[in-house]
Amino acid sequence: MGKWKPGGRSSMSDRLRDFLGDAAGGGKNWKLWGTVAALVVVGGFAIWSISNAVSNPQSGTNYIAAVDGSDPEKPVPLPRFYAPAGDKAPYKSPSTGKAAVWPAEKCYWTRDGKAKTEPTLVLLNSYVGKPGDTICPDCGKKVYPRNKPPPDNVMAEAEREGR
Ligand SMILES: [Zn+2]
Repeated sequence: MGKWKPGGRSSMSDRLRDFLGDAAGGGKNWKLWGTVAALVVVGGFAIWSISNAVSNPQSGTNYIAAVDGSDPEKPVPLPRFYAPAGDKAPYKSPSTGKAAVWPAEKCYWTRDGKAKTEPTLVLLNSYVGKPGDTICPDCGKKVYPRNKPPPDNVMAEAEREGR
């Protein structure tokens, strides 16, 4: 009986040691997997933001060239133009080489006071040093810097009616 006690104790402490060892090992594994998971998340986010920046360098900005066409009174929309990073407007026109490309304002109005989903791109007079208000050539409304789109319900109607 006297001899059983120490033996039992030792086997208990062995078991305890085994248990603690496993737990410590498990803890290390969790730490490792946590790090891997964090790296995957961070790396994924980095790739996502880079690809986003590449595919859409100036989110939603369209450009318009003041002098690309034969008529200087008719600026030419350049829907596929991307401003070179680090440059400032006016940008060099790809077709004429002249520094005459500006960010365009978008006008979603139609002449009868409704909206359309494809905006008219408008060049602001102030960019090219012309006096007076900028008037949209399509609908005749005044166009402002950071021109406001029509109210949501008017835009929704345009979408429903396929304009
Ligand atoms: Zn308009």
